[in-house]
Amino acid sequence: YFRTNSLPHIWCPGCGNGIVTRSIVEAIDNLNLDRDKVCIVSGIGCSSRASGYLDFNTLHTTHGRALTFATGIKMANPDLEVIVITGDGDCSAIGGNHLIHASRRNIDITTIVYNNNIYGMTGGQYSPTTPKGDKGTTAPYGSIDTDFDLCNLTAGAGATYVGRATVFNPKLIVKLIENGIKNKGFSFIETVTTCPTYYGRKNKKGSAVDMMRYLKDNSINIEAAKNLEADKLKDKIIVGELYKNIRPEYTDEYTKIVDSF
Ligand code: SF4
Repeated sequence: YFRTNSLPHIWCPGCGNGIVTRSIVEAIDNLNLDRDKVCIVSGIGCSSRASGYLDFNTLHTTHGRALTFATGIKMANPDLEVIVITGDGDCSAIGGNHLIHASRRNIDITTIVYNNNIYGMTGGQYSPTTPKGDKGTTAPYGSIDTDFDLCNLTAGAGATYVGRATVFNPKLIVKLIENGIKNKGFSFIETVTTCPTYYGRKNKKGSAVDMMRYLKDNSINIEAAKNLEADKLKDKIIVGELYKNIRPEYTDEYTKIVDSF
């Protein structure tokens, strides 16, 4: 499933992007999807490079616009399994509007965000998911913005399958992606990943191993989280299947109208 004729990847040592990308491939393989029916669309950023490494129909698009290209592809060919790879800056800053409207439409696209809490490729600027108080090159004294909870954002906007996992637990990433692909509607999977080069270094998070250990020690499954009071969940990463719903899918609704003429 990986292109053998492409150049070696250029992700930094300790970057979690490879773990997420491998998990996507494993989910596709487990579901036995026809490779010719899979279309992977990405925006711009470190994570969005993944489309260039994968041997499916792929489209590496413009910054923040992966979901608009993906929407066009899905509308033109609803039989394709359209998967979007994006980063936190790509999908929730410049592409934030597209994310909420794809959720609202419940179009049958599976979106996987590699959330490293910072802009990596462009040099460590803080993103909409940089935790309040954490540093980036554009927030040298700490961000004063309240960070987005991307899962709450997409569930609130209308996505019908929402889940979160960290790169410490790739098995959970695979399971969420499989279920997201199976969901007939907009699926959003947040993968919390490591960027030792910028987020880690700017915020003194230690080595990639230390960052992995942090993800392990600070994740809590949604089922366990339900039994805890809110103050015990502060700074915890709640993982698992967070939200599911069933409602009409966008291309189905559109096809019904077109067929009625
Ligand atoms: Fe990964 Fe960060 Fe390096 Fe980008 S800058 S490849 S996200 S470690």
